[in-house]
Amino acid sequence: MKWISDLIDLIFPRRCAVCGEVLSRQERYICLNCLYTLPKIEAHHKIDIEQTFWGKVDIERATSFMYYRKGSPYNALMHKLKYNDSPEVGTYIAEMAAKELLESDFFNGITRIVPLPLSKSKQRKRGYNQSEYIAKGLSNVTGIPIDTRLMVRDIPNETQTHKNRDERWENVKDIFSVTTPYTLNNEHILLVDDILTTGATLCSCATTMRTWYNCKVSIFTLAYTYNGF
Ligand SMILES: [Zn+2]
Repeated sequence: MKWISDLIDLIFPRRCAVCGEVLSRQERYICLNCLYTLPKIEAHHKIDIEQTFWGKVDIERATSFMYYRKGSPYNALMHKLKYNDSPEVGTYIAEMAAKELLESDFFNGITRIVPLPLSKSKQRKRGYNQSEYIAKGLSNVTGIPIDTRLMVRDIPNETQTHKNRDERWENVKDIFSVTTPYTLNNEHILLVDDILTTGATLCSCATTMRTWYNCKVSIFTLAYTYNGF
């Protein structure tokens, strides 16, 4: 059946999600050139990511894989993941991230991976939750199970764009709840989202999880908004 996939490739060539060049048979989603210059988070910024949560919610560890910067061609990856109906690219990048993180103690003790839930109406509109595709990539590499039924997001996602910093935090306070009959006692949850900006929504979700006895929370996001270059 190889000739069929060759023919499909010829008519609808697969293209790099970043630069748009036609991909070779060995390449998946991203061409080798773009992969080589993928804007991975530099070591000295890893602490900034953890600092986002300091004084807001007690977490074990937090990390991101790549930068999300104004004007970067790599933002196309996040766009594809969220809006272009190609969420598989998120799984692909998350697998790459997980392989690198396996060399550290990041995954030690984590019992479940939980994608940050979307509200029901938003998920219906988009057709999927992009964070689930990221969670899938992490789970494929680590073998840690994903739990998508654990949390619900109670109120519709109101757009955050025109709100100031304080309003954003107030807007997402107490919007998550744990679905019964689950208990998070003694669990260590890895909470997963696509892009870390203010961290307000992640904090809200982690705070709810932390109300359970000895429930630890770590955070992974695929990208981290940074415009300080
Ligand atoms: Zn490319």
